[in-house]
Amino acid sequence: MYDVAVVGLGAMGSAALYHLAARGARVVGIDTNTPPHTLGSTHGRTRIIREAYAEHPSYVPLVRRAYANWSALEAASGITLFRRTGGLMLGPPGGALVSGAAESARERSIDVELLDADGVMSRFPALHVDAGMVGLVEKSAGILFPERCIEAHLALARGLGAEVQCQTQVMALAHGADGVRLMTTNGAISARKIVMATGPWTSELLAMLDVSMALEVERQTVHWFDASGNGDVLTAGKLPILMIEHEPNRVYYAIPDVGDGLKAGIHHEGATVTPVSVNREVTATDVEPVERLTRRFLPSAAATPRESAVCLYTNTLDENFVIDTLTDAPNVVLLSACSGHGFKFASAIGEIAAQLTLDESPALDISHFSAGRFN
Ligand SMILES: Cc1cc2nc3c(=O)[nH]c(=O)nc-3n(C[C@H](O)[C@H](O)[C@H](O)COP(=O)(O)OP(=O)(O)OC[C@H]3O[C@@H](n4cnc5c(N)ncnc54)[C@H](O)[C@@H]3O)c2cc1C
Repeated sequence: MYDVAVVGLGAMGSAALYHLAARGARVVGIDTNTPPHTLGSTHGRTRIIREAYAEHPSYVPLVRRAYANWSALEAASGITLFRRTGGLMLGPPGGALVSGAAESARERSIDVELLDADGVMSRFPALHVDAGMVGLVEKSAGILFPERCIEAHLALARGLGAEVQCQTQVMALAHGADGVRLMTTNGAISARKIVMATGPWTSELLAMLDVSMALEVERQTVHWFDASGNGDVLTAGKLPILMIEHEPNRVYYAIPDVGDGLKAGIHHEGATVTPVSVNREVTATDVEPVERLTRRFLPSAAATPRESAVCLYTNTLDENFVIDTLTDAPNVVLLSACSGHGFKFASAIGEIAAQLTLDESPALDISHFSAGRFN
């Protein structure tokens, strides 16, 4: 009997496994694949982390805890996991992106600077900005390296005694008063509690418990562009991470070149799929709108990407996370922390999952991430 079994060892599960092992719990992590891998939500080499959180000020304490935990993980693993680049939220002054980030900055005392279009272009020469747009600049934003983060969490968890079973799929779950029984492709496992961190596969796992939740899996594509000339204006150091509200509630984002080209994509606007049915090939229809927006805002990038990839979002109805113990299966802690913006928080969410499963009080208020809010 394990204290806790963590199902899914991507961004969230690997972090949960580490924090459970660090607390001395008898813990096993199980994954169908061998994380990090390219079939879920946590590949593509870079992720944005930002503090002046446009989505809602209530995310700020969580991201602050995540920054501290990433930094501790970096120190413990000796692996570089984060690069500070600063961040730029660009759009119309009253748009959701800039005004949301400004509200978080105001409410949580985050040091930001507001620039007009000319100010943005003179600060960041690679950018071409529409007249009337404004840019909110924050210093603490930057880039996380997601595959390395997973590797670091798993390696340290193993070092602390966690068992890891990759290439092992959970096929069925049965929960009772004394715990959960997991039927896997490598045999049965019993645990007092489980952390369910199965990303785009979560609906399948919830169905094993007869629990349903409205989760939508959305196909996304990302693209890497070389610079068209020899300049270094697209590199980290010259360009911040950026998000641009180019039309109301439509967001394009880019991550500066850290050695493999400028990375760009469109946030949401993808097809609803399943991890089985999704087309994992990038098509011309995927590339064309990203090329157009890149040409418009970052004209020194090459006209076509050198590489593209398909990735998956798992969206809740309100695009906020679920981090909660399930009412109908009280031995199960569910982590559905995606909706396209979850990675940056993984180091903090893993810690909260450990607290929830070991009956500690979570150090942060997670009431707004309750599963019950959709009832
Ligand atoms: C294109 C793209 C860009 C993004 N950009 C950002 C960003 O810039 N900043 C940010 O903060 N967030 C970003 N996100 C969101 C972020 O990447 C996700 O929130 C995060 O990766 C979700 O991790 P996860 O652990 O929930 O899922 P995953 O990493 O997909 O892990 C789920 C794991 O569960 C395993 N699994 C599934 N079913 C079973 C089973 N039956 N048995 C055993 N194992 C199973 C899978 O093999 C997988 O390893 C982005 C996402 C995408 C797709």
